[in-house]
Amino acid sequence: MRRARRAYAKDYKNAGHLKAVEKPASTLAEVVKAAAGEEALKLASVIAKGRDVSEFRIAKTTKLDIQKARNLLYKLHSSNLADYRRVKDARKGVYISYWTLNNAAVKERYYKLQKERLQRFKERLEVETSNANCFFICPAACTRSDFARAEQQKFRCEECGQLLEQENNARTIDVLREKIREMEAAA
Ligand SMILES: [Zn+2]
Repeated sequence: MRRARRAYAKDYKNAGHLKAVEKPASTLAEVVKAAAGEEALKLASVIAKGRDVSEFRIAKTTKLDIQKARNLLYKLHSSNLADYRRVKDARKGVYISYWTLNNAAVKERYYKLQKERLQRFKERLEVETSNANCFFICPAACTRSDFARAEQQKFRCEECGQLLEQENNARTIDVLREKIREMEAAA
């Protein structure tokens, strides 16, 4: 419950920065981060520049040790975002993997993420419009509550005890509507 509240408060704080999510990072960045984490992005960016890029070259370019690089590469592979083939190195007698980005999967995943994001924006808009001007926020932005919950809290922030203020969420509604229009136009 406390955790959910924190997430919500964080979400609220971010509401003022909706602009920050208006211009998402590149398709690749977004997909890789969601599927395999921020760290994997460096590797994916290297692979994206070519085909059959050797694991050693990837490790060298990203300045990661080979074991770490391999772990992240397999993470990309298990998310279906990169494919590899293993070739026996005639000189050293060991297998080396060569990596290629799965562009189709990246694209597909991106559209899926966009669709989910659009859905979240719509749900958020629904909540905002059905509670127009009925949100209560802490001046320190710890919490944001609808009327029923604010009343339960006796209009005091559960985190820091300050008196809650009624919020005019017209701007948030506008930003959400605009964002949804943009996303639908781009889809
Ligand atoms: Zn507070």
